[in-house]
Amino acid sequence: MVVRLEALINGTIYTSFSPLRKVSGLVIANGRVIYAGDSETARSIAEATGGKITDLQGKYVMPAFFDSHIHLDELGMSLEMVDLRGVKSIEELVERVKSGEGRIILGFGWDQDEIGRWPTREDLDNIDKPVFLYRKCFHVAVMNSKMIELLNLSKTKDFDENMGIVREKALEEARRIINERILTVEDYKRFIEKAQEHLIELGVLSVDFMSVGEKALKALFQLDRDGKLKINVFAYLNPELLEWLEEMNFGRFEGKKLRIWGVKLFADGSLGARTALLSETYSDDPSTSGELVSTKEELADIIERAKLLKLDVAVHAIGDGALDVVLDAFEETNFAGRVEHASVVRDDQLERIKELNVRLSVQPHFIISDWWVVKRVGEKRARLVYRFKTLSKYAPIGFSTDSPIEPADPWLTVEAAVKRGEGKVELFEYTREEKVSVEGALHYYTAGSAEVSLAGGLGKLEPGFVAEYIVLNSDPLLKFKD
Ligand SMILES: [Zn+2]
Repeated sequence: MVVRLEALINGTIYTSFSPLRKVSGLVIANGRVIYAGDSETARSIAEATGGKITDLQGKYVMPAFFDSHIHLDELGMSLEMVDLRGVKSIEELVERVKSGEGRIILGFGWDQDEIGRWPTREDLDNIDKPVFLYRKCFHVAVMNSKMIELLNLSKTKDFDENMGIVREKALEEARRIINERILTVEDYKRFIEKAQEHLIELGVLSVDFMSVGEKALKALFQLDRDGKLKINVFAYLNPELLEWLEEMNFGRFEGKKLRIWGVKLFADGSLGARTALLSETYSDDPSTSGELVSTKEELADIIERAKLLKLDVAVHAIGDGALDVVLDAFEETNFAGRVEHASVVRDDQLERIKELNVRLSVQPHFIISDWWVVKRVGEKRARLVYRFKTLSKYAPIGFSTDSPIEPADPWLTVEAAVKRGEGKVELFEYTREEKVSVEGALHYYTAGSAEVSLAGGLGKLEPGFVAEYIVLNSDPLLKFKD
């Protein structure tokens, strides 16, 4: 067997952020770190074995980022969509749409106030392909006649056929038909590869790909077989695919870069739409406390089935009411699962999280995007929102972006965790103690995510770990220091 050996010398190499450890030399053999220590030793190991020597010339090295909750297919799709933000007229909108590639054209970002009026199906009918354009809020879209024909949507009040406008429920239906019936496995392969290129540029080399559907799964298998997956992908599948796995008795799987790793479930909705389940009513709408979308029994049933296939289980729970139900389901099934988001967590839930060995994937950039959140939960509960520092004392924490919901750029997420929107968002005033250090943030975004994802060997550059690293011109620990 040929050993490919490489030494990195003369740098500042962070091998771990918790505990904090830095060295000046690293030796890598066949993709794994075999030595982390001083430059001279690293150089002599490489020289003795005829390995390659890379002089870092004072640059900084750290483990690559691990985004523990992302949607590769939707991220790739969003990167491919025609960007209609800032469009000022119908003519400009049509011009931009015409530049779109692919069999069907998807776009996003228009605003009727900026255009001067609502775009209509007729405006888009001289474009030769099916067209579907989200408004900037993603809750409304306009289509041309070719797309209307293709989708064959049910007639509801949310679908204005004359205008070619769909909203809410009809928009959900349209999205489902596009994703499941119109887009092909080839489309999904292209989306995943696009997302992957974007992430590599940003220094993200491992991800938990959440809510993987049938076509995305096929695309992942094909890309991995063909050696085209370049980042580590831990796939958490939609529960609909569980039955199919059971029929084939196919569970946990490790390919080259692809791992079939878990099932992703939903317990509630979002704070934005007031569908996240709170244990008390919303402060800006006392008529509701949100919605539970899976009962404890439904969650427990899927957890038991996943256990038989040796799969992990990740459950979306944003409100504290939903978290109660998820913790009950974990307790009943005696399963140490993971919770996605955990946006509102009461004090009395902290010990339970610890006792049940729950792992948490959180999204610090929500602090910036959910600038209205104090109005939703009220001043009294505000301190319970996105309380990362507190949570980290009770559970392993992994950082993530939920991209394309939030930008995939890890430095924006680190900044949000470190500064908590100081001077920008109201939540800061209630949660300033929840700021984490840059060191802490980088730990949660590397080894922390690996721990949450049960991904051994990733997230550090200590001997035995996979040598996936990024090179930086300046010290990452000094970023965001004023
Ligand atoms: Zn998500």
